[in-house]
Amino acid sequence: MKREGVLYVISAPSGAGKTSLCKEIIDIFPNLRHSVSYTTRPPRNGEVHGRDYFFVGKDEFDRMVEAGEFAEWAEVHGNFYGTSLATLKESRTEGIDLILDIDCQGARQLKGRFEGGVYIFVLPPSIEELRRRLDNRSSDSQEVIERRIHNASGEIKEARWYDYIIVNDKFSEALDQLKSVLIAEQCRTTRLLHGLSRVFTI
Ligand code: GDP
Ligand code: ADP
Ligand code: 5GP
Repeated sequence: MKREGVLYVISAPSGAGKTSLCKEIIDIFPNLRHSVSYTTRPPRNGEVHGRDYFFVGKDEFDRMVEAGEFAEWAEVHGNFYGTSLATLKESRTEGIDLILDIDCQGARQLKGRFEGGVYIFVLPPSIEELRRRLDNRSSDSQEVIERRIHNASGEIKEARWYDYIIVNDKFSEALDQLKSVLIAEQCRTTRLLHGLSRVFTI
């Protein structure tokens, strides 16, 4: 029997660096996939439908909510985002680890619904640096940036209930920390016991 896939949930205020960290970590762990969310947000320059997000209209999003197709969904910064329940089920039974880049409201829903998930919060070194990164990314209008900065302090309060906090100051160090969390979680007794009990009396 294959081991069950592990669910990693990563949240952060916009601009803290979670997309950059998720992109790098996927290349390091061959068994790890990124869960592609559905969103009503318009695509940014360079974003690809099916790779970064499934970009859908509000009507289609509402239909999916009604049909129970989301494991979680939330309104974030004025747009709607949701995680496909089918993707979670498939990866779990196929033994594929999944990383979800989702907001705190969605993370809370998953924590109440599924067991065994690992919750990681990424913080920027400061709010000033967060603003600098959002400005430098040049992907959002000034109005959108202001809204995201405004929402950051409320989101940061949620960090206290996550399992791990990573401060993304120097990127390579933050990536090392994320790597360490994943490696440690793979060695967790509860995840290994079932497989090992077929080899050892344990
Ligand atoms: P079920 O469909 O009756 O098992 O209902 P649940 O709501 O308990 O779970 C929905 C699906 O998500 C099931 O297939 C679970 O096995 C799966 N699931 C639960 N926890 C996790 C997890 O930590 N990771 C992943 N990838 N899937 C999970
Ligand atoms: P999020 O997905 O959390 O909104 P991104 O990964 O898009 O954040 O990062 C926001 C911006 O900050 C991007 O332009 C990214 O290249 C940059 N960035 C990420 N991490 C760091 C870091 N440690 N130092 C400086 N800039 C960073
Ligand atoms: P962005 O528009 O910058 O890509 O994402 C904005 C926010 O929405 C981020 O906090 C991101 O984690 C969150 N988000 C992205 N996908 C999902 C999802 O499927 N569900 C939830 N709840 N939040 C999401």
